[in-house]
Amino acid sequence: MIDLNIMKVANYINGEFKEPSTGAFQVKTSPVDGSKIAEVPRSGREDAREAIDSAFEALKAWANIPAIRRAEYLYKMLEVFRQMKEDFMKILTVEGGGTYRKVWGEVVFTERLIQNAAELARHYQGRVLQSDSESTISVVFKRSKGVVGVITPWNYPLSISMKKIAHTLAVGNTVVYKPASDTPVTGWLIAQMVAKAGLPKGVFNLVIGPGPVVGEEIVTHKRVAHVTFTGESSTGREIAAKAAGTLKTVTLELGGSDPLIILDDVDVDYAARLAVFASLFHQGQICTSAKRIIVHKAVADKFIERYVHYVKMLRIDDPRKDEKVDLGPLINERQVALMKEFVDDAVSRGGRLLIGGRSWGNFFEPAIFVDVDRNFRIMREEVFGPVRPIVVVENDDQAVEVANDTDYGLSGAVLTNNVNRAFRIAEAVESGMFHINDVTFLEESHVPFGGIKASGVGREGGEWSFHETTYDRWVTVTLRTRRFPIPSALK
Ligand code: NAD
Repeated sequence: MIDLNIMKVANYINGEFKEPSTGAFQVKTSPVDGSKIAEVPRSGREDAREAIDSAFEALKAWANIPAIRRAEYLYKMLEVFRQMKEDFMKILTVEGGGTYRKVWGEVVFTERLIQNAAELARHYQGRVLQSDSESTISVVFKRSKGVVGVITPWNYPLSISMKKIAHTLAVGNTVVYKPASDTPVTGWLIAQMVAKAGLPKGVFNLVIGPGPVVGEEIVTHKRVAHVTFTGESSTGREIAAKAAGTLKTVTLELGGSDPLIILDDVDVDYAARLAVFASLFHQGQICTSAKRIIVHKAVADKFIERYVHYVKMLRIDDPRKDEKVDLGPLINERQVALMKEFVDDAVSRGGRLLIGGRSWGNFFEPAIFVDVDRNFRIMREEVFGPVRPIVVVENDDQAVEVANDTDYGLSGAVLTNNVNRAFRIAEAVESGMFHINDVTFLEESHVPFGGIKASGVGREGGEWSFHETTYDRWVTVTLRTRRFPIPSALK
């Protein structure tokens, strides 16, 4: 168990925990009550470069060991992770404001992610192709790309980071990892786990510091072959543009404004409970939260009454108190201020606030609006917090029209007992993922998770993570003497 009161967090470079070359530290406080958690490095570009060099040096040996050896390291990491679960849960609550149910779910999912990477490591393979030439053997090898930059957000700081780290390492890449500035202690705990698992030095490196400094150095450095990023769409755009300078590849898991569509043939009370979970779990700070609720007019009145009824029942409290707290704080003051802006914009445009909108500290009462239109900020932008619109529609076509009236395309869901209507809507909604009769934020360790439009590029999870961080290399063996089609060489 770690002692939460005396933490000084460090970078982890070339197998050693070390202070940043800048000598600068900053205090990380808890979003729950503003209390000090730890002092964390404010690293500079020099630290990022050192980590990149260390990952580069370690690359060849790590890429060349048999896949089963890398799998063994990952299984060791899984064993260490299981011993550290409680530490992780504690930090995820204190540092990230997650309720017991949120952090428990994140830890369980992370365990499956590491296990999935370990299991798949030795089963990822190239292909033997037919050749158009006689006596030629034609094969495709899967090769690791090299040094991979891992840049992650604060909302699921453990699972999103481990989804990238475990799978990236499994196929022979080395890692330079920059956690979100709001959740650096989770990043440091991940480094503790890697160190305890005994991974060879330099294979995994952690640098804690500002995105525009440490993150940017990773994105622009020519020794970094690939960047896997999860965060806001605006940051993703910036990263893609900067990565183009060295023509490195990128995986971008970005924002969403996912629709949850409720048709007229559902059990309305069940739909309302599902919608509360889908739209407000973890204070609505999930990329695939149901951010726009679209309901058929035949059940709208009853649905809205039931939804508001269940929102009222939510217990908003200090998540450290007990396991039954429903909603904890938002991650920081900036997010609280942003939620207020969304509320003010909706009110000023004539939206009807059914409930909520009050705040204290970083806690924010879910604010639910009806009578909204497409110009409201809560309809146009990603609302990464507990402010939600409910839109009433006449029919299925209109539901799809509203669902697609967004720049985003991450996930979505429809609730109905009619399989034909469900599939028609599933086909018509523009998104990387879609779920029938469930929440918008389903995720499993081995499925292709990701979005289209402004929600991202690439897929992560299981073998899809491997595709992102490997390249195909074509190799041939010619087993005969050739005749060349240049006259002077013809015999
Ligand atoms: P963010 O974009 O502000 O930050 C993400 C990371 O990028 C952080 O580590 C940050 O320090 C770093 N960063 C910032 N500027 C950078 C720069 N110029 N160069 C390099 N790195 C930089 O996002 P956030 O506020 O931490 O997270 C919330 C966002 O993440 C939401 O938009 C949410 O939808 C999205 N998200 C997406 C998924 C998904 O899988 N699609 C999952 C979770 C969260």
